[in-house]
Amino acid sequence: SIVVTGATGHLGRHVVEQLLEKVPAEQITAVVRTPEKAAGFADRGVRIAVADYNVPETFDGLFAAGDRVLLISGNEFDKGRTGQHRIVLDAARAAGVALFAYTSAPGSLTAALADDHRDTEEAILASGVPHVLLRNGWYSENYTEQLAPVLEHGAVVAAAGEGRVASAARADYAAAAVAVLTGEGHENTTYELSGDTAWGFAEYAAELSRQTGREIAYDAVSVEALTGILTGAGLPAPLAAILAGVDASVEKGELAVTTGDLSRLTGRPTTPLAESITLALKG
Ligand code: NDP
Repeated sequence: SIVVTGATGHLGRHVVEQLLEKVPAEQITAVVRTPEKAAGFADRGVRIAVADYNVPETFDGLFAAGDRVLLISGNEFDKGRTGQHRIVLDAARAAGVALFAYTSAPGSLTAALADDHRDTEEAILASGVPHVLLRNGWYSENYTEQLAPVLEHGAVVAAAGEGRVASAARADYAAAAVAVLTGEGHENTTYELSGDTAWGFAEYAAELSRQTGREIAYDAVSVEALTGILTGAGLPAPLAAILAGVDASVEKGELAVTTGDLSRLTGRPTTPLAESITLALKG
């Protein structure tokens, strides 16, 4: 079977939906923490497995020899994500899976956020399991799903200077994962996935102005100022530092790299930022 972890997350839902268009539902296993959130998938014939990255036993017997697995990286920064990912990897290796795909971070990214991904990649390489590293670039939704404060203040605030972001929609990254999970010849490959084109924050603000008919400017601030704004808005200090660190990486061009890997894997251009904005504004 094709086994997808994090299946009730934003990316995981796209992956399962797109898999359902390509393979019979009974060939798909959705690994979830909360089965109630997966009721819609179960109704359509998807097998549901309940497991938690923090509890190794929950992965006992979950994978079978020959499975193709997608490990969607976790989001519990305070729980040691590398250790969590190792739990899934160890179970997959023990079962003898045919393919282990992992949603990683861009190779160019030096921000602290990338450390867990680097460590997980090392563990995967050391395990000897046939693998695919899907080094996902930034989601357009990281920005377009955060429009409330932008519209309220009439400003896009970022500490990214003139830096550019080659973002793509989550659905695009999901399509790449599906291509790998359902295709052939991807073993032991690393893909640097990104949007086809990179945009800057002034352009992003201009596109928001165009689509909303309101004046929205780019307010470029320092990393320190952004950290203060984020903690002031109620974010825990460590998370604020992580997010501000990403902007510093953007300014250095670390998220602007475009390899074309994503559109090559999916066979179509990536979703333009303007389209993600339109979708977000429709709510
Ligand atoms: P979500 O936060 O929507 O999904 C995270 C998924 O991981 C959820 O399904 C969640 O389960 C699952 N999960 C978290 N902790 C555990 C655990 N202990 N045991 C089992 N499952 C767990 O993120 P997205 O889908 O948007 O993105 C997927 C991943 O990509 C993120 O987790 C993060 O690592 C990374 N990411 C990448 C970004 C990018 O721009 N490239 C931006 C943001 C994140 P549940 O549904 O039960 O909550």
